[in-house]
This record gives sequence, C-alpha cells and structure tokens, in this order.
Amino acid sequence: MSEILVLAEHSRGVIKDVTFEMLGIGRELAGVVGAKLMVLILTHDEALANKLSPYADTVLLHKDELFKDFNSEVYQGILTKIISERKPVLTLIGHTPTGIDLAPNLSVSTGLPLAADCVGLKFENSKLRVMRQMYTGKINTSIGFTDAQEYIVMVRPASFQIPGQMDKPGEIIKLDMPVEKVDYKKFIDYIEPEITGVDITKSEIVVAIGRGIKEKENLSIIEKFSSSLNSAIAGSRPVIDKQILPPDRQVGSSGKTVKPKIYIGIGISGAFQHVMGMKDSELIIAINKDANAPIFEVAHYGIVGDLFKVVPVLTQKINELKGGK
Ligand SMILES: Cc1cc2nc3c(=O)[nH]c(=O)nc-3n(C[C@H](O)[C@H](O)[C@H](O)COP(=O)(O)OP(=O)(O)OC[C@H]3O[C@@H](n4cnc5c(N)ncnc54)[C@H](O)[C@@H]3O)c2cc1C
Repeated sequence: MSEILVLAEHSRGVIKDVTFEMLGIGRELAGVVGAKLMVLILTHDEALANKLSPYADTVLLHKDELFKDFNSEVYQGILTKIISERKPVLTLIGHTPTGIDLAPNLSVSTGLPLAADCVGLKFENSKLRVMRQMYTGKINTSIGFTDAQEYIVMVRPASFQIPGQMDKPGEIIKLDMPVEKVDYKKFIDYIEPEITGVDITKSEIVVAIGRGIKEKENLSIIEKFSSSLNSAIAGSRPVIDKQILPPDRQVGSSGKTVKPKIYIGIGISGAFQHVMGMKDSELIIAINKDANAPIFEVAHYGIVGDLFKVVPVLTQKINELKGGK
C-alpha cells in the first residue's frame, strides 16, 4: 500500500499547528488514493509521539539528542534515507522558516519535485495538483507536475483545518538509524524579544496596525482608539521594521501568537504570516480600504474604508457610548 508522509514540526516541546493541519489534508488525500498516513517525528523527547498517534495510521519516531534543536542538514540526512527507502507518494512539510530551510535541499537530495507554499492539494487521475496563491492572495493558480510518481509539497500554515482524532490511535514505530552529526552548522540560542510595557498575548482586546498607518506620526489616532477600548496595540511586520512599534508587538509567524476576545486589524492586508498569529482570536474585525484584501477572508466583521476617516469616528462613538467625550 502506498504511503503519505507528514514531517512533524515542533519547537521547545510544542508540536506546531501546521503539523496537525497537514495531517488533516493528508488523511483526506490518503482516503482518495488508498494510502496509509504516516507522520515522522525527529525528537529527543519521545512523549511527543503520543500526541501525534491519534492523527495518523503510523507514527515514525526517531529519538536522538541531535534532534533537540532543529538543524536542517541533520533532518535532510534522515529524511533522504526514509524517503528513498519507503518511497511515499507524497511528503508534506510545513511552509515555515523550518520547512523553507529544509525542503529545497531535500528535493535535490531525493531527486523529487517540490511545490512550495501550497494552499490546496488534490489527486486527479492519480496525478497530484496543487493550488498556490499569487499577487498577495488575490489569485489562485492550479499547478501540476510532469512525469512524477512521488512529490514533496510544502503546505502553507493555516490553510487546512485541524482534524478530529481517529477512533484508534496509530501505531508508534521506533526507528533505529544512525544520525550524522553536522559540524559546520549548529544551533546556538533562542532569543525572545524584550517585553516593552504591555504583553500583547495577555490582552483581551488587541488593536493591530499595518503598513496602512504609513508613518509613526499617525500612531496617535490608533492610541486614542486603543485607549477607548482599553486594548493593547500590536502590529504587522512592516510596522515593526519601520520602528513604529517595538519588536515584541509583532503578530505572526515570526512574531507572537495572539488569541484575544477581540482582534481589530487596521490597514493590514492579511498575509498568511500575519494571519498565522491571530486566526484563533474569538472575534476578528478588519478595517481596510481594499475590499479584496485577504484579511476579510478571516474577519467576522469588516469595514471597507480609509482608516484615517473610520478610526476617529469609531473612537468618538465608543467614547460617547461610554459616556465620555
Ligand atoms: C519569513 C517571513 C516571516 C514573516 N513574518 C511575519 C510576521 O510574523 N508578521 C507579519 O505581519 N508579517 C510577516 N511577514 C511579512 C508578510 O509576508 C507581509 O509582508 C506583511 O504581513 C504585510 O504587512 P501589512 O499587511 O501591514 O502590509 P501590506 O501587505 O502592505 O498591507 C497594507 C494594507 O493596508 C491597506 N491600507 C493602506 N492604506 C490604508 C488606509 N488609509 N486605510 C485602510 N487601509 C489601508 C492596504 O489596502 C493593504 O491591504 C513575514 C514574511 C516572511 C517572508
């Protein structure tokens, strides 16, 4: 029976959501092509394998101290051997900084075709087709591979639902393969940005601003709005890069994950790296002058308009409702 392989991504003892999302689409595809769903975890902590077994037919567990911190070269060596021996019809890797470091080299060492940053996958007549986005999410393109029996696909985080657990947990198989140490590339340290006064992950309301704010001088409009709501102010990466807000306020894949009761995105387009950090907020409201901005796809409520006109009106209304001026 053919196999579909998912590479589990984890960091500091936590399995990343993208792993479960890949197991969701992997299970769907395995049903279509009659394949078994496998997940591979390379770790120094074998307890993590138990968290995966309710989601796959088989968990391949390789335990080694060298897997304590991610090293793409070490991963590449092991994955190349596993893929060459087992020949899974499809290998799924997250389109994350980790996956981006690993997958292109793996494609070369296995000789398999690779499609990056995919938001949809399906088999048509036993051939794989993937969907990718263009023009910051405004257009979807369907892409096929020529003359391939096996594929590597990188899956964009937050593109698929996390599936429910299976009735019967999958079997955990311990792998015993030599792991080659790599001397020329090594992990040094994790560095967390310093918290500057407010912790955006703890606030019940987060007002997040994007490039639409344009200049730091315009921040006062947002500060007044935020203060009317007693919220924390966060931002997209360009706002941090432009030093409008400090680094600990960044929401997204390379920033923080926030799950407030209310998230209000102002002048933010909704790039997936940002959405990854706020998609699980209880209520999402977006203000953007572009009605086609991808943020509206995840928003529960949206205002299409110029933030410089909309936000002062909202601030005034909120203050009026609160009985202030
Ligand atoms: C490896 C990697 C990691 C990344 N990590 C992150 C991350 O952690 N977090 C993150 O946010 N990004 C991250 N990014 C960047 C991400 O890809 C986007 O470029 C970024 O999120 C876009 O920010 P934005 O929405 O503020 O800007 P833009 O995409 O430029 O969008 C600005 C939006 O403002 C709207 N606008 C403009 N003027 C107004 C106005 N007057 N009124 C109302 N709306 C207006 C526009 O219509 C537009 O939709 C990462 C990128 C990479 C490659």
